[in-house]
Amino acid sequence: MSKRNTEDDKPIPDIVFDSNSKTTYKKGQFLGKGGFAKCYELREVTTNGIFAGKIVSKRLLTNQKEKEKMSQEIQIHKSLRHKNIVLIHSYFDDPNFVYIILELCRKRSMMELHKRRKALSEPEVRYYMKQILEGVVYLHGLQIIHRDLKLGNLFLNDDLEVKIGDFGLAAKIEYNGQRKKTLCGTPNYIAPEILTKQGHSYEVDVWSIGCIMYTLLVGKPPFETNSLRETYAKITRCEYTLPSSLNAAAAYMLNKMLQPDPSKRPTVRQLQEMEFMKTGNFIYLFLEF
Ligand code: ADP
Repeated sequence: MSKRNTEDDKPIPDIVFDSNSKTTYKKGQFLGKGGFAKCYELREVTTNGIFAGKIVSKRLLTNQKEKEKMSQEIQIHKSLRHKNIVLIHSYFDDPNFVYIILELCRKRSMMELHKRRKALSEPEVRYYMKQILEGVVYLHGLQIIHRDLKLGNLFLNDDLEVKIGDFGLAAKIEYNGQRKKTLCGTPNYIAPEILTKQGHSYEVDVWSIGCIMYTLLVGKPPFETNSLRETYAKITRCEYTLPSSLNAAAAYMLNKMLQPDPSKRPTVRQLQEMEFMKTGNFIYLFLEF
């Protein structure tokens, strides 16, 4: 979602009440801020259950399009139940805010992990990739494209399990072979077919997973430049380099995902079967956070 000035918003109450289910939450620690949302720890007072509350001011949902996007995000997200997808516990509103009660991911996202660690070891990348692929196989099986898979949307819980979140740009494929023509927003790891407006589908998620895997292994994104315009030019030319030191099975997998022609990219199921995912050290993995 795009950046907005939220300074003149009404304050978020310290006690949040869901009048439908008669549930009371106590607001705790501030977790972070997105384009539209502010996120706080919320504790359910009767059960002591702890959640992440994504709270959006209604003053930011001024036009019909933004309201529809918000309800589309909730509609898609509430239909999902998988160990690698952030669980949506409930959602409700009051006169000032919309509240989305989510599974708490206390170890933040893979973005912070990347900033701290830069390049990860191969077994670590395999560990994270396995979970990302399982989550996306589930989504694609339900005809849902995430369309903004990026490190900042891959949340981590206390056990360092990956939870895919933020369905703000997600879309449902309505019929076999449908190509989506529009996308309201700017995905981080944007696929070339979105930039050239050729129509897009599931393959955009595979492209983004390629960018994610590259960033995790190499320590920086594949098409990084100083300006968005140059980055987009590099993406449309599919101009990236792989370090010669990279594991051959990883390089093969990256080259398959980062292809300009979406029809040549593997499906997420095919990615799960690739050599890099199947071989190498996994059991004796030491996760450095
Ligand atoms: P937006 O859709 O407005 O961009 P995000 O979904 O990115 O909002 O959420 C904003 C911030 O809140 C995130 O960057 C993260 O720090 C925090 N956050 C979001 N979801 C969770 C969660 N389930 N657990 C913990 N923190 C979260």
